[in-house]
Parts: sequence; C-alpha cells; structure tokens
Amino acid sequence: MSRAVDARPKVHRCMDIQLSLSHLGYLPESPKILTLLPGDASGLPDGIPFYLRQNCLRMPRSVKREDGFSARFPAPYDLLQGKLVLGEGTAPLYTGELRRISSRWGSMWQADFSRFHTPGSYQIETDLQISPPFAIHDRVYDRIIAGYLTFLRAQRCGCAVFGVHDACHLDDGILDTDGSPLPAAGGWHDAGDFRKWLAFTLYHIDALLTLRERLGEDLERGGIPADLLLDEVSWGNAYFHRMIDPRGQVYEDVAGGSSPEGSGFSYENDWWFENHPGCYGDASDNRWTDNVPRSGDERRIRTMYNPLVQWAFVHVQARVSRHLQSPEAERCLQLARKAAAFGRKHAHDNRTLFLAAELRGNLELLAAGDTSLDLPALIASARELMRRQAKAPEGLSGYFTEADSSDGFRSIAFAADPAFTLLRIWELGSMLPDTSVAEQARQAVFDYIENYLLADCRSNPFSLTPYGVYLDPPHRHRQLFRDAGNGRGVRTFMAPFNSQGIVHGTNSVLMSHAHLLARAAALLSEAAWRGPAERLLHWCLGHNTLNRSLFSGIGYRQPVGYSFRIPQLPEAMVVGFIGRPDDSPYLEESTAIEWNTLEYWSIPFLQAAQAACWLRG
Ligand SMILES: [Zn+2]
Repeated sequence: MSRAVDARPKVHRCMDIQLSLSHLGYLPESPKILTLLPGDASGLPDGIPFYLRQNCLRMPRSVKREDGFSARFPAPYDLLQGKLVLGEGTAPLYTGELRRISSRWGSMWQADFSRFHTPGSYQIETDLQISPPFAIHDRVYDRIIAGYLTFLRAQRCGCAVFGVHDACHLDDGILDTDGSPLPAAGGWHDAGDFRKWLAFTLYHIDALLTLRERLGEDLERGGIPADLLLDEVSWGNAYFHRMIDPRGQVYEDVAGGSSPEGSGFSYENDWWFENHPGCYGDASDNRWTDNVPRSGDERRIRTMYNPLVQWAFVHVQARVSRHLQSPEAERCLQLARKAAAFGRKHAHDNRTLFLAAELRGNLELLAAGDTSLDLPALIASARELMRRQAKAPEGLSGYFTEADSSDGFRSIAFAADPAFTLLRIWELGSMLPDTSVAEQARQAVFDYIENYLLADCRSNPFSLTPYGVYLDPPHRHRQLFRDAGNGRGVRTFMAPFNSQGIVHGTNSVLMSHAHLLARAAALLSEAAWRGPAERLLHWCLGHNTLNRSLFSGIGYRQPVGYSFRIPQLPEAMVVGFIGRPDDSPYLEESTAIEWNTLEYWSIPFLQAAQAACWLRG
C-alpha cells in the first residue's frame, strides 16, 4: 500500500482571481481599464499595485531557487508562487494601483491605465495574478475584421469549405406552400446551425460594403485579394436573388423551422419575440441532406411575408448597386425597386422595426439614384420615427418606443436600427427637399446616444449599454428592473421571465451599439463617442466579469461554443452574456453547452467588424 503525496505547493487562489482586460489590446489613445476579479475577496486590501511590462518577461518573485535550475532557466512549475520582488530585473514600463469598487455586480478592483500610449506587446502583473498578453498599436482592431472574413467564408452553404465541411445543402429547397422545388442552394449558414435566415444574413452584404468603403487598399496591402469582398457579396447575392418571387416578394428563410410540437406557439401570434423573427423555431430542418434534388429530404423555404426581410432586401440591394459594374448593378437595383414596389402594396403593422426598415430601404434607393420616390412620404416616416423617441424630463430619454407608446422598442438583433436609419437621413440630408429633417435626425441620434446609451452605461462597472426599456415591466417580483424614470424599467440584459421563456445573449445588442457609436462619432464629429464604442468591444474581447474572450479565434480563455453539427467553427463569435434575474451577467463556463450564451452567431460579428472599420479613423 502506498499513499500518494501531493507535494505541490499551494498557489494562493490564483485560479479564482482573474486580471481582466482587452485580450486583443488597444489603440494608443483607447480607454484602457484593468479589472481584478477576486473570486473570494476576503482579505484583499483596498489598493493592489500593478505593473505593466513586456509580454512574456515575468517579474522576479520571492521563491527560493530550486536545485538543478538556474536563474537563466528557472524551475518551470507553479509560476505564480511568491510575491513580486521590486527593484530586480527590468523595471516595469508603467505602474499604478487597482482600487476596490463596490458595484451592483459585486466588489472588484479597477484601474485606468489610459495614459500609457506606447505601442508594444505587454502583460500586466500583480502579486495575485497576471493579465493575458495584449498589444497597443494603431489599427489593432483590424484583427476583428480579418476574423470576420474568415468566419463568413466558413459559413458558406452550398459548397465545400476546406477544413470545415464538405459541400452541403446542394438540394435546397422546397417551397413550404406546395412542396415544389426551388433552387435555393448557396448563401450562408447564420449561426452554429445550418439555417439560412434572410433577416440576419442579408446584413452581411451591408457589412461587406462597409469594409469595402472603409478599408481602401489596406486589405490588399495586407495580403488579402482586393476582390475578396465583392466575391463574398456575389456569393451571398446568388442566393438572395433566388429568394424573391416573380411578384417581388422576398422569402423569409430556408430551414428556419416551425414551432416546437406541443408549444402552442403560432406564426401569426408568436413569430416575433423582442423584434426577433422565429426565435422559437425548432431545428427540424437543421440537418445534413443528401445533396440530391427531389430525393425527398429537401429543406423547406418559408414563403411568409416578413416586412423586415422585404425592406432589408431593398436596402442592401440598392446599396450594393453602387458598388458593382454593369450589368450586375442594374440587376440589383431592379430587384430592389421590385421588392420595394411589393412592400408598398403590402402594408405592415407599423411597428418601429418595420417603420425603420422601410425608411432605410427607401433611403438607399434614394442614394442609388431612384428618382421615383415619394419624398414627402419618406420625410413623414422620418418624423414619425422621431416622434417615437422618449422625451423624458428625468431619467433616461431618447430611446425609441413602439407605436402609440405601447412598449419600449427592444430588439435582440436590430437594437440600433432606428438610430442607424436616422443617421442615414442626416448623411443624405442634401438630397431631401426639406433639409430641416436632417438636422432633426442628427439631434435624435445625439439624444439616443447621450441620454439613453451613455446615460445608462454608468450603471455598471464595464460601461455596458442597456438592452432595453420596459414601459410595463413584466414579473416585477421575480426580476430586477432599474429605474428608467416615469415608472419605467431598464435592464442591461434581457428580462429572463418573459412571454416565451427565451433568454438570449446580448453581444448583438452591444456590438450594434458599438457600431453606431463608432460610426456616429465619425459622421457627427463626436470624438468622445469612440471610447464608449471601444469599451463595448473590450467587453467582448475579454474585459468582462469572467476574463473570457467571446471570439473563438481572438484572445484567450474562450467559453465552449455551441455549434450543433460542426463543433468548432473558425473565428466565430458567441451570442454572449445573458442576465440573471437581478440583471447581473451570466455566461456558461462549463461544457454543459447551451445556446443562450454560447451559440456562434453572425449578427454580433458583422456589427463588431463594422465598428472596427469606423474606429480606424
Ligand atoms: Zn449548408
């Protein structure tokens, strides 16, 4: 009988304590916040010194040298043992002190090292823990753009993607009306599954065009072929152009799925949840197929009329027409006009999301040279959208509401779309007969950002912008709503007790806001909005309550992604933190994978990539 002896020295709680920051790093002028997350905070002092140093070159610690190892090659075990020894080795490049703060998310220690601007590759060290490595240099966020392009290529459907999957879904699909075949192979998988929603994947065209407009020749200088962006646009459009019928109606999705059996949900009553279509859709068509048309396992094409899809199609096709040569440009503009004509003949219920989408579609037609638009009607719609902004004398203001103030406008995937629409009105103001509406739109964007996003982001230690305002908060006894003024409630994260029992991560919301803040900072000359945009990116890049990067290929300590058929997608971004009932952040850290926080998803990434474009200056 022998007894195993654990001879390893105890390392003081080092696995519990995290030193959190943006794992990718910072621009020289970025805000740079360091947060120490204590695990068990007992016994920690109010102030904890920190030392910024060259990446990899650890500071000396007060441990006895072990026999058999030298100063040049020290014992390679348990590296966090001992206290830092100051005055030996290379001097730190910057020092400061983390200070204890009390927040609604508990005690933590924070420091601001924004004054350190010097480009380089660093880590920050304390007695208790060492930060992940990070860089400071110009255009550091280009790595997000590079990751996005790799991710999008891997999401291609209808072809083989080397190292990811063989050719898939060549037999898409059959119409849900009568089962007749319609060639709808191609496009992109939207998330960690195989479904091809137009409501989400159309916006990749928007993102690719933003990249094309903002990156200039830098992609090619960096070894990425200049025609890659338009090649990806063409790949998407080959699919989207098949998803419009001869009358001009755009189909909603391929393989989205139906309401789960026994759920009681119906398309008419429950398809929309928090301005997200099909959240409850089951995964019945989320599967491999035999790639052989008419063999019986084809996936369904949803032909229902979705006004968001209809007008998003108009918007992106009109926009892309300005990037292409003849005859493709004419083809895209012709389809945009056809879809717009269909949309005008088929009224929608005037919810804020649809109102904004229709307006945005018409604005892109205007930008593309369509002279047949009813401009007074367009301006009336713009004024209606601005009437739906809260104008509160106290508390939060400037956020959008639904028609007749029935509720706050909240959206999982399209949170910033009303503000993006108004920003576009400001950009195109000189093309409008009444230029005063452009100035009003500028003021409306200013109110939304200053009196809502930035006013509420002070409520938490990571400067997260709010998920949404609830005019009549549901289940108040079970979940926390912070006071938004006027009896209304606001949350940083979606209220988990809701009509469909769905709790959805909010990276999409945060990255939409980051994109809006960065873009509005540039277009409206409000440089102070760049910092808040970057803080949101930093949250996703690791500066969060768990010190985990939410990009699978950028940063460190990633959670385990949820991807139903292909467990590892390259360079993907997860849907992100949800909130507990008390509005504190939660991300699944175990391998008990669930989609709520961990599913890979297009929307946050395409917004993050655009934020990165606008932050290049
Ligand atoms: Zn596929």
